[in-house]
Amino acid sequence: MNYQSILNEIQNEIKPLFKQGQVANYIPALAKANPNDFAMSLITLDGEEYNIGSYEKKFSIQSISKVFTFTLALKNYSKELYKRVGHEPSGDPFNSLVQLEYENGIPRNPFINAGAIATTDTLLSLYKDDTFKKVLEFIKETSMQDDIIFNENIYHSELEHGFRNLALINLMKSFKNIKNNTEDVIQTYFKQCSIMMNTKQLAKSMLYLANHGINPKNNERLINESQAKRINSLMLTCGHYDASGDFAYRVGLPGKSGVGGGIVAIVPKKMAISVYSPKLNEKGNSLIGTKALELFTTKTGLSIF
Ligand code: GLU
Repeated sequence: MNYQSILNEIQNEIKPLFKQGQVANYIPALAKANPNDFAMSLITLDGEEYNIGSYEKKFSIQSISKVFTFTLALKNYSKELYKRVGHEPSGDPFNSLVQLEYENGIPRNPFINAGAIATTDTLLSLYKDDTFKKVLEFIKETSMQDDIIFNENIYHSELEHGFRNLALINLMKSFKNIKNNTEDVIQTYFKQCSIMMNTKQLAKSMLYLANHGINPKNNERLINESQAKRINSLMLTCGHYDASGDFAYRVGLPGKSGVGGGIVAIVPKKMAISVYSPKLNEKGNSLIGTKALELFTTKTGLSIF
């Protein structure tokens, strides 16, 4: 299959959509993104790479970081982790407080904010002051890139406006589902959200999930096969908040989005894909990114179904 010409076709076909959607503005630093940016990268397990658009341009990975922290926590805690965070779709927005109250402070899944925050809290119990360093190291390892850092501006902008996330932390703390200091939890969570990567690096960083837990670049096993299966399953059912069903319906691949405009998706046993376009739909997922992935699976027949 000629993937490069498929990417070219996609870039052409998404053009009319640039009028739609809105760049995230509830975190002021994110509102500065260029609404016309578009990038898409695809990397196969045997190392073929295809890119289009501004694929070298870094953006904040936001909720895509939840895939890495969930992987690390699952690797360390195995099934014990599910005492602190569930594995069901939430059907609620990413930062919702309501469900958390009536479900006694146990978030539905690790890909909504509350679940990701509880997951980061489990890592803080393990790695203490080194937690963010460990998360960053893990991302460097999976993407095989050394130059990955977080963006101080975005981080501070999130801290200054993180009222809902603080509320989630405090609510979970009242149910004893946050064990560490509130400040440490919020700071680590916002640092992981403001990590900067481009689509090329992100696609590479997801290859272990397309390859049963083994990084195909160096044959290193990062997690076991069953853990890789579970992470992919959760990406399919919970990776796009309350639009997860819609994403599965349209794209048919496990994926995870972030409000920075990035999306990662996995074609099991074949490849990892990443898309970037900062204008979001009303559910907080990249509008053009979702469309580009829908076009990709339609044109290639490479959905999991
Ligand atoms: N830092 C963002 C927040 O907590 C992440 C949300 C997202 O990417 O969906 O609000």
